[in-house]
Amino acid sequence: MPIEKNQVVLFHYSVRDEQDNVVEDSHGGEPNAYLHGYGGIIKGLEEALEGRDAGDTFSVTVTPDKAYGPRKPDAIQRVPIKHLMGAKRWKAGMVAQVQTEHGPRHVVVAKVGHKFADVDTNHPMAGRTLTFDIEVIDVRAATSEELAHGHAHGPGGHHH
Ligand code: ZN
Repeated sequence: MPIEKNQVVLFHYSVRDEQDNVVEDSHGGEPNAYLHGYGGIIKGLEEALEGRDAGDTFSVTVTPDKAYGPRKPDAIQRVPIKHLMGAKRWKAGMVAQVQTEHGPRHVVVAKVGHKFADVDTNHPMAGRTLTFDIEVIDVRAATSEELAHGHAHGPGGHHH
C-alpha cells in the first residue's frame, strides 16, 4: 500500500554529503522504522517517501532547511574533557556524546586543550545538503498503541 499518514514504514538508507562521501548507511543492520506523518524522520525525507510503496528505491537530495537545519555559528561550548563520552583520547573532528539537561546528544570536537575541549553543539549534519538513497522494505498499518505514542514500535523502531 502506498505510504500515507498513520502507516509504519520500514526502509534502508544510505546518506551522502555534497562530496559524495557516505556518512551513514543502514544496510547490514535492521531497517529503520518510523510512523509516517509525525515528523519522526527529517522533513525532506518524509515528504519524499509519501506515496511510495514496498520495493521502491529512489534517491532524494535534501537541503538543510528540510534536514538538520542551518549551522549556528554561536554553538561552540567549552566543556571539561572528562564529560566527553565515546573515546579515551580526543582530537578535533571526532564526534563525542555529552549529557545535557535534554538527554545525551552528539557534538563535534572543535579543539582540545589540557582539561577542557571546545565542542560544536550543532548537529553533525547541520548545514549540509544530503542525498539519501532509499529502499522501502515494508509498509504496514500502525497499531493503535503506535498511533497513541506517535512512533513505530518493534524492530527498527522504539523499544519500551
Ligand atoms: Zn511507544
